[in-house]
Amino acid sequence: MRSLTNHTYLDYNASSPVLTKVADELYNLFGSEGNPSSVHASGRFIRSALEESREQLGRYLNTHPSNIIFTSGATEANAMVIKSFMGSKRASKVYCSSVEHPSVLNNVPKSNFVPVDSNGIIDLIALENILDKQTDPILLCLMFANNETGVIQPIKKASELIHEHGSLILSDTAQAFGRLKIDLEKVNLDFITLSAHKFGGLPGAGALVVADKKYIEPLYFGGGQENYKRPGSENVYGIISLGKAVRELPTYYNSLKVEKLRNKFENALITYRPDSIIFGSDVDRLPNTTCVALKGASSESQIIKLDLAGYAISAGSACSSGKITASHV
Ligand code: PLP
Repeated sequence: MRSLTNHTYLDYNASSPVLTKVADELYNLFGSEGNPSSVHASGRFIRSALEESREQLGRYLNTHPSNIIFTSGATEANAMVIKSFMGSKRASKVYCSSVEHPSVLNNVPKSNFVPVDSNGIIDLIALENILDKQTDPILLCLMFANNETGVIQPIKKASELIHEHGSLILSDTAQAFGRLKIDLEKVNLDFITLSAHKFGGLPGAGALVVADKKYIEPLYFGGGQENYKRPGSENVYGIISLGKAVRELPTYYNSLKVEKLRNKFENALITYRPDSIIFGSDVDRLPNTTCVALKGASSESQIIKLDLAGYAISAGSACSSGKITASHV
């Protein structure tokens, strides 16, 4: 696997490296003939590898494999859910927290952003007020954990509130998946979305997991793949990498160890620069994420200096880099 020498890669929320074991197994599969929709032996071989990924993901999330629709990633999966509901009878309006990833935020009208507190946690009272004013059910998009701060949302409470009002909830788990255990039987979400490259699979593959497929409309029309919900030949290697990365999660990801290292870093930073701000340090966060501000040092200059010193970090979601305005989060 190619990685830069004398370089410490710390930007796993942008993209995590493909796990060596996954890459080795994929390498052995590359060049396999066949389209998974073909009925001959080559097609059936690749189909069974793809279906094994669906089963692996289903077991991990405690849901039936038929609830899984493979996509190109969380961006597409988020758009599929949101666009299925905009103006529909089941949930005519779509709301989201104001700290969502751009793949949600840019698909929802600004007037439907639900406020958050200073830690970036959704204001459940504001949400309840919004719900009380509705005549029809809504769809709420509330990410499981934030990509910039790692702050974890009160998903269970929000889903209870949403369901008491007959509404629906989508949670983008692109960052939480694999870093927190998500049991779909327990969290009671209607839709979740995820991306393989955040936990050791290839970029360009992900999934939408649904409690009820009937509400989901395809973004465009074509063949009958993914039960007519996501037409087009499947990204077989991406999907297979997703299943294999899920299989590796229990042995590869040690959240306690990662959290200890993160806390050690933050304690050292505060000792060195007591005026540093660590966002979300008093609330539940992903174990792998730290989001800090250093007075007098712009994020651009920190990124450049750390890059020259051999550390890869980021100052916001990868898709917003290049922007010079402050992050919405
Ligand atoms: N949602 C969140 C929270 C993310 O962090 C990302 C990626 O940065 C996405 C969605 C989009 O994932 P992808 O670019 O793989 O579609």
